[in-house]
Amino acid sequence: MSYSYEAPVSQTLFDRASLVTPGGVNSPVRAFRAVGGTPRFMVSGTGPYLTDADGREYVDLVCSWGPMILGHSHPAVIEAVQAVVARGTSFGTPGEGEVALAEEIVARIEPVEQVRLVSSGTEATMSAIRLARGFTGRAKVVKFAGCYHGHVDALLAAAGSGVATFGLPDTPGVTGAQAGDTIVLPYNDIEAVQAAFRAHPGEIACVITEASPGNMGVVPPLPGFNEGLRAACAQNGALYISDEVMTGFRTSKSGWYGVDGVAPDLMTFGKVMGGGFPAAAFGGRRDVMAHLAPAGPVYQAGTLSGNPVATAAGLAQLRLLDDAAYAKVDAVSREIRSLLTDALGKEGVAHRLQTASNMFSVFFTEGEVRNYEDAKKQETFRFNAFFHAMLARGVYLPPSAFESWFVSTAHDERAIERIAAALPAAARAAAEAKEVSA
Ligand SMILES: *Cc1c(COP(=O)(O)O)cnc(C)c1O
Repeated sequence: MSYSYEAPVSQTLFDRASLVTPGGVNSPVRAFRAVGGTPRFMVSGTGPYLTDADGREYVDLVCSWGPMILGHSHPAVIEAVQAVVARGTSFGTPGEGEVALAEEIVARIEPVEQVRLVSSGTEATMSAIRLARGFTGRAKVVKFAGCYHGHVDALLAAAGSGVATFGLPDTPGVTGAQAGDTIVLPYNDIEAVQAAFRAHPGEIACVITEASPGNMGVVPPLPGFNEGLRAACAQNGALYISDEVMTGFRTSKSGWYGVDGVAPDLMTFGKVMGGGFPAAAFGGRRDVMAHLAPAGPVYQAGTLSGNPVATAAGLAQLRLLDDAAYAKVDAVSREIRSLLTDALGKEGVAHRLQTASNMFSVFFTEGEVRNYEDAKKQETFRFNAFFHAMLARGVYLPPSAFESWFVSTAHDERAIERIAAALPAAARAAAEAKEVSA
């Protein structure tokens, strides 16, 4: 199999896009700025494969950044969408689909007694923070460096991948007032959390954390960390918000909650629950959710919230995600991880593979990565060489060293064989890579 490295049709599309859209993309990481080169414009996806505008096929290890856990164009999801679309696409009224999706979420995740549907993970975390502030009557929010919760103004401080990729310490456009009530702490450091509660008695509305972070690469919580957060919040009258936009319905049937069993006060979801459409949610304790309009005083709304097409896709996907499906995704993840460490080991490349259920990422560094500071020690130039060698051999990885890799039930032996075939040369490229000074 031979792959030419050039992508002339993608390049032409990117040139067109760059004239009418800032940086040529609608979400920064897609532009390949971290790894260099031309972003591939995809035209179709089937199972574990994507096909680009130049007609090249790739094994997809991004899965739309997590949502496509059944692979692309799963027949049951497509069928559900087609059935709904034929009856109209948006009514701006309540509908049965959104009730069924809410029931599915509540049935899967014990701490979620009520849920509100929104259209993106950003909306979910933004609304959860507002609700926590409204419920507690407090202003301050604790977040962790390297955790990403969408591009909510107050949470765009030390926010991991997207920001890490671009080396922006912060972002212009977020005012001191907007970020001033945000306390950023090192991840996996429970003493820092306890100290923050001592320093700001009665002022902290909530602690928000990724249930198991995947936005600085995969950095799972140390044993006891999430329990410690929960306890610190409970002792101090603050809410514990677990952001499961990435891990929800991916790391188990009931997300990361199904892995560590630590019950949050509020949770946020997105990605997998939308089945490839814009659907997200936040939910949790009934007494807290009762503060949300129109039941309570905290305002929150959305023209397309609970959209019939998006909810049908999400529900169809969730209904297929049974124990057997997760066992399959876990097995695929294990197989790829073992191929990856073998290949890098053979070339003597210093690396650290970190795993959270079926999510994983490789850091080109030695030693455990417990927080964002550790993650930033990696040799990203090695990842970039590795990425391009894989791309040239038909494997599409996340175009940044600070992202989780995602697999699906559709990654079959043929797809895994292609990954296995690409890895030795990519490992060699990582071994031989030299740091280029900017
Ligand atoms: C992706 C993500 C978000 C943001 O979701 P969008 O749908 O991109 O707005 C929030 N939190 C986490 C943990 C995420 O991974």
